[in-house]
Amino acid sequence: AEERLYLGMDFGTSGARYALIDKRGAIRAEGKKEYPIYMINECMDWVQSWKETVFLLLDDIPLHLRPLIKSISLDGTSATTLIMDGDSEEILGRPFLYNESCADALPEVRSIAPKNHTVCSGSSMLCKLVSWWNAHDSKKQSIFLLHQADWLLWLLHGKLGISDYNNALKVGYDPEVESYPTWLLSQPYSQALPSVKAPGTPIGPLKDDILQKYGFSRDCVVCTGTTDSIAAFLAARATKTGKAVTSLGSTLAIKLLSTKRIEDARYGVYSHRLDDKWLVGGASNTGGAVLRQIFTDEQLVRLSEQIDPMLASPLDYYPLQVTGERFPVSDPNMTPRMHPRPDSDVEYLHGIFESIARIEAKAYNLLRDLGGTPVEEVLTTGGGAKNDKWIKIRERLLGVPVNRAIQTEAAYGAALLALQGSGKNMAVSI
Ligand code: ADP
Repeated sequence: AEERLYLGMDFGTSGARYALIDKRGAIRAEGKKEYPIYMINECMDWVQSWKETVFLLLDDIPLHLRPLIKSISLDGTSATTLIMDGDSEEILGRPFLYNESCADALPEVRSIAPKNHTVCSGSSMLCKLVSWWNAHDSKKQSIFLLHQADWLLWLLHGKLGISDYNNALKVGYDPEVESYPTWLLSQPYSQALPSVKAPGTPIGPLKDDILQKYGFSRDCVVCTGTTDSIAAFLAARATKTGKAVTSLGSTLAIKLLSTKRIEDARYGVYSHRLDDKWLVGGASNTGGAVLRQIFTDEQLVRLSEQIDPMLASPLDYYPLQVTGERFPVSDPNMTPRMHPRPDSDVEYLHGIFESIARIEAKAYNLLRDLGGTPVEEVLTTGGGAKNDKWIKIRERLLGVPVNRAIQTEAAYGAALLALQGSGKNMAVSI
């Protein structure tokens, strides 16, 4: 039989990528595009830019590989929201970006949602929808709410009103009972909400004009997507419960695959569903950003060589860039602690590495205390993961193996989702 391939696309904050993999996960082609600049009324025209980028990525795929592609999936930034008029299929206004806050809608959202629900944040999808709804008078009955990934996938398959439960979490969808809660369904704008499938569920074939123009196969299916951070987790292939991924870049973020769902607003901890498991996440304000204020990356490499990772550093810091920590300690008034500074830079760096590793260990312990599956192995990504000495220090403090993730690109994770989707039946027509 002829070999088949699986396409994943990632629409991140700074650009878009694709990865084309075979069934064993080997990369057969990959590429990256910056978002082209289009302006409309002196604002960035994201609709035009993202749309062009999807097709630029498709154009970039080697011609001879295109007919082999069996399925496609993609990820977008979480809580990036578009409102479409279902009759004209036009995007109404401009998209709300992932980090944009619609605080005007917060009082209304707080009054309908349970206390501390994920939608009770100004940047949630629901606040964006409510804000849009209250600012408009006409054409409201035929609108569709789309996440960035839903819209990009719609460009490819043409069926309106479908999303995945990772993206839909921030609009209020409950992935545990697989429905929107009644407090949401009773709102006038609830008819705009998409129907929700598991990420990687086949939706339908590519639109005819696209498959002809680009030379894709007629049996190639487009599958539901996910968010960019979940796609990055999937890329690391931490597929068993107890496996975790620590991203140690400018900040420290952990994600643990758990049998139990954990939600704790005090610590900003919440869970995404992944099939029959839960992806529990938390983010600390500590991380490599503080290192960069003190040492250059070259100094980090040189000083690290002299650290003995088997020795515990007696220095106890709490490296933060600004006041305030949320996870694994909830304290908005916590001040950075970086003293005493020893004469030796090697000792200083050792103390910082040790202190951040202690915070990482505390983070995993907190998830366990909240009912999460105990961590068995940590895969790690980000700038800090380059450092072998730091990895050794972290292994000593975490008490489990710490390994660098082989794949870290969200596009690769989206391709794995496409691969998973290719084995499923097409969703019954919506
Ligand atoms: P971001 O989270 O901003 O995307 P990266 O994942 O690129 O960042 O990580 C950048 C961080 O990694 C910087 O804060 C830097 O101090 C840290 N870093 C870079 N090189 C090393 C190294 N060799 N050892 C430890 N940390 C490093």
